[in-house]
Amino acid sequence: AAPKVVVIGGGFGGATAARALHRLGVAVTLVERDATYLSCPFSNAVIAGLREMEAQRFGYDGLRREGIAVVLQAARTVEARQVVLADGATLPFDRLVMAPGIALRPDAIPGLDTEVMPHAWRAGPQTLLLRRQLEAMEDGGLVVLSAPANPYRCPPGPYERASLIAHHLKTRKPRSKLILLDAKDTFSKQKLFEEAWAALYPGLLEWVPLSSGGKVVEVDAAARVVRTEFGEHQAAVANIIPPQSAGRIAQAAGLTDRSGWCPVDPVSFESRQRAGVHLIGDAIIAGAMPKSAFAANAQARVCAEAVAALLRGEAPAPPKLINTCYSLVEPGYGISIAGVYQPANGLLADVPGAGGVSALGAPAATRAAEAGYAEDWFRTVTADAFG
Ligand code: FAD
Repeated sequence: AAPKVVVIGGGFGGATAARALHRLGVAVTLVERDATYLSCPFSNAVIAGLREMEAQRFGYDGLRREGIAVVLQAARTVEARQVVLADGATLPFDRLVMAPGIALRPDAIPGLDTEVMPHAWRAGPQTLLLRRQLEAMEDGGLVVLSAPANPYRCPPGPYERASLIAHHLKTRKPRSKLILLDAKDTFSKQKLFEEAWAALYPGLLEWVPLSSGGKVVEVDAAARVVRTEFGEHQAAVANIIPPQSAGRIAQAAGLTDRSGWCPVDPVSFESRQRAGVHLIGDAIIAGAMPKSAFAANAQARVCAEAVAALLRGEAPAPPKLINTCYSLVEPGYGISIAGVYQPANGLLADVPGAGGVSALGAPAATRAAEAGYAEDWFRTVTADAFG
């Protein structure tokens, strides 16, 4: 019989992998727990009231039309050569690809109640809750946002979010302030963000690094108080982004290491803990490669080629992968960072001299062009994943 591949998770990684495997002639079944996928990329614009949730919504009809079997159920466990679904049914596989994304760890911050202080780090009800809280806030209120230590989903995401919330405050509630508490002393595209903040949001947006008391140690959700190593902040709205780990199914299947993430071979994306199981996207330790939708999509294509080669009894070829992360700092003002990665010493490492960031001090027309590229990328990547 033809070899069978099961893919768990229909996000940017899993949906792309399923389509790429199908194009390579592999019989593939996609297992996804939700009928609708809500995209995190551009969800910061939804929070700031610049975009509607409708634009974030994707489904699996495109995959079904191509002939991919889509099972809308949660995968419960992974056994030796089969996936057990929530209803107890089993799906046998010769190789398994897992792209379950992240699990959030709100318990890491004592007192955190995410229904009061939303994380909005998975697009959905949390995104809309944070938006409603900002809309309901009185002019003059303090918004507290907190960014976790590395590694976490979307390194520039908290800074894009702070920028777009600051834009919202500047245009609608100009007496308000935003404090961005950070569990780090440096961050992605830092000089570009700081250049933009100085020009667009002086006195409105304040970034507090780890060494100045940026790490949140505790919150009082009911009182909306956020405590750091150095003091406390009385928030009107608090958006606490907790630490993260690989999605729960990866933990349950014994694929994570002590870091909470999944180590993989950087050529085949096969788990280091379990032969025949491949992992891609946010759930993995990808060396220098960040946790982004762009990266998950790139890893999915490489992983599909590797799985198809292994099923033919061939060795997969060492890949080169690209990532680009765009961020908006206000509507029509985009900045980006790009990198190229290749296997080295068992991880994915930067290709020296490749990649880079947008230029500092660039004219408005360049920033506007980058904002346009961000939208073009979103159309391209969602079409590649969902058809
Ligand atoms: P996900 O997209 O999370 O997909 C995982 C899927 O697996 C989900 O559909 C889930 O339902 C499913 N699943 C999990 N467990 C099971 C199970 N047991 N059974 C069945 N299904 C299961 N990236 C960019 O490249 N550009 C951006 O501009 C960008 N902006 C972002 C902004 C924000 C605010 C955030 C939070 C993230 C942003 N990202 C961006 C990052 C991007 O969203 C993630 O890196 C990307 O979604 C990772 O893809 P993934 O396939 O690994 O996981």
